[in-house]
Amino acid sequence: MSEITLTSEITVKLVDSMGGDLSIVRAARVSTAGAKAVADPERESPEAQAGLIDFLMKMRHGSAFEHSTLSFFVHAPAFVWWEWVRHRVGMSIECPELSFNLESGRYRQLEPVFWVPRRERPMVVPSDGFKPTRPSFDLASEGIYNAAMIAIEHAARSGWASYQAMLAIGMANEVARTALGFGIYYSGYVTANPRSLMHFVSLRTHNPQAKYVSYPQSEIAEAGAVTERFLAEGWPLTHAAFVKHGRVAP
Ligand SMILES: Cc1cc2nc3c(=O)[nH]c(=O)nc-3n(C[C@H](O)[C@H](O)[C@H](O)COP(=O)(O)OP(=O)(O)OC[C@H]3O[C@@H](n4cnc5c(N)ncnc54)[C@H](O)[C@@H]3O)c2cc1C
Repeated sequence: MSEITLTSEITVKLVDSMGGDLSIVRAARVSTAGAKAVADPERESPEAQAGLIDFLMKMRHGSAFEHSTLSFFVHAPAFVWWEWVRHRVGMSIECPELSFNLESGRYRQLEPVFWVPRRERPMVVPSDGFKPTRPSFDLASEGIYNAAMIAIEHAARSGWASYQAMLAIGMANEVARTALGFGIYYSGYVTANPRSLMHFVSLRTHNPQAKYVSYPQSEIAEAGAVTERFLAEGWPLTHAAFVKHGRVAP
């Protein structure tokens, strides 16, 4: 049986970005400054820029937040992609083969990398049951965690062995991949603008301070939190206003 990699790591790297808070200020100022909007905002004080961005966020004048982009390389299990690609607006995933432009499981053989939960990830249904509106889980005991890891590893190894066996008899990648399950990793590129990224972050991170508290699966929340950090680094005024106004995308 060939070697497989079991990992809990989800990689989100910023590979490209364009713009910053000033791009948003310029786009908004064109409304009242016309051609002067290109030069004048650079002469505005940081307080004035922050004030304008805060106003735009509060009043949900969202289009100004579309004048920048962030491109991420993401390496994540299939179940994370399954959730991520539901976000249709302002996102694109760069790769030529599939409609969502992910690494193709049709045109290349996938790598033997499978997701396993971290020890500290809550994953046991609590005694009072699963609540779809507020899903929360208990930490697994050592025994339950070990049993789950054995089952997950067995599924990954036997899935990979079946995949390899099918490829060896000439089966197409696209059919053989059905043996691999939801924990197999795919690579992809995601490009978003700050507005669509804030919408994604508002739904795919859990923050009790949010105006509308979301309860995403923790693996996409982990990825969402990394994208949010890049937004906060490159667009600090925008991110501060997003947080101040309840983490609601404008
Ligand atoms: C915790 C959680 C649980 C979920 N559970 C499920 C589930 O059980 N089953 C399931 O199918 N999905 C589920 N989803 C996915 C969810 O229904 C959305 O598909 C996903 O969050 C993307 O949100 P969105 O449509 O607002 O984003 P985007 O597609 O990025 O759209 C952004 C905004 O654009 C506007 N918009 C986009 N498309 C249209 C349109 N066609 N018509 C009108 N306005 C539009 C809307 O204002 C929308 O909010 C879940 C999401 C979360 C966060």
